[in-house]
Amino acid sequence: MWPGLANFVDMIEVGRFAPSTTGPAHAGTLLAGLLCWLDTRGNKGRLVLRLEDLDPHRSKPHWVAEMSKALEWLGLDWDVLERQSEVQQRYVSAVESLFKEGLLYPCSCSRQDLASRVSQRFDGLVPYDGKCRDRSLPPGGWEDCSEPLRLRCDEPAPDSSEPFKSPWMGDPLIRRRDGAFSYHLASVVDDGILRVTRICRGRDLEPSMRIQNVLQDLLQFPRPIYHHHFLLLEGREKKLAKIHGSMSWSELRKSLHPDQLTGQLAYLMGLLKKPIPVSPVDLLESFSWEAIRRPDLVVSWDRTSLSFIAIK
Ligand code: GLU
Repeated sequence: MWPGLANFVDMIEVGRFAPSTTGPAHAGTLLAGLLCWLDTRGNKGRLVLRLEDLDPHRSKPHWVAEMSKALEWLGLDWDVLERQSEVQQRYVSAVESLFKEGLLYPCSCSRQDLASRVSQRFDGLVPYDGKCRDRSLPPGGWEDCSEPLRLRCDEPAPDSSEPFKSPWMGDPLIRRRDGAFSYHLASVVDDGILRVTRICRGRDLEPSMRIQNVLQDLLQFPRPIYHHHFLLLEGREKKLAKIHGSMSWSELRKSLHPDQLTGQLAYLMGLLKKPIPVSPVDLLESFSWEAIRRPDLVVSWDRTSLSFIAIK
């Protein structure tokens, strides 16, 4: 290999889009995918499409199959496609190393238990209070334990490079009650192993950043750069539910060409002054995070004009 190539490969930016496959693709999914694609490709990076299908009850094979079709239809591409359910050995190794450090403990506290002990924060989140921190695992170790597992860890010191201080949610779950590895663990391990350098995702995931930073430090993965973007909300100011019929991809594609939808999404983002048809590639030149709107947007789908109407 050319002597400098190894360093060069290390320096390449890697982004990832990581949709959960717990519902159909919808306008919010496509907006998030487009932003992630622009952020990665705009930085000449490689893109990983990671299908987050670890939830044994909520993830369904037809939604797994639909997700990549929907993103491809919009004109997005990627270099690597992974399904979390197919790389679980990675998570076993990571949990084993956290266990060897003595950082895991069993905790069966339910959400209701927690809600009865801790009051909700202003944003509705309930941080874990550390009640089971001093409990130990059975002599056979974490694999012999049938309870959920948590990570014993301290709130990290504020990082001066962080533009904001996201809230600390307490010791995170590592393995859930149903036996599935937690979102935080799987996400950090996958990002680390695939050398992801940039993470672009919805603002609702901002509170998970500090927990993920702690896991990255413990597992010795470098911390990526984060961008948390605005959300599309539906009328009742709820995040577009994956069940939201009229804005699901299968409905939108019946009446719109992909370039029309891309143009409408780019208009909502603030990248275009008018919702004219464009392809994702056409947006690369004008893309910058400064140009992207910050506040969430409440939208509805207007069948007559075949466009999104921004309500607020
Ligand atoms: N799977 C999450 C979602 O669909 C995104 C996770 C992440 O980007 O870290 O909202």
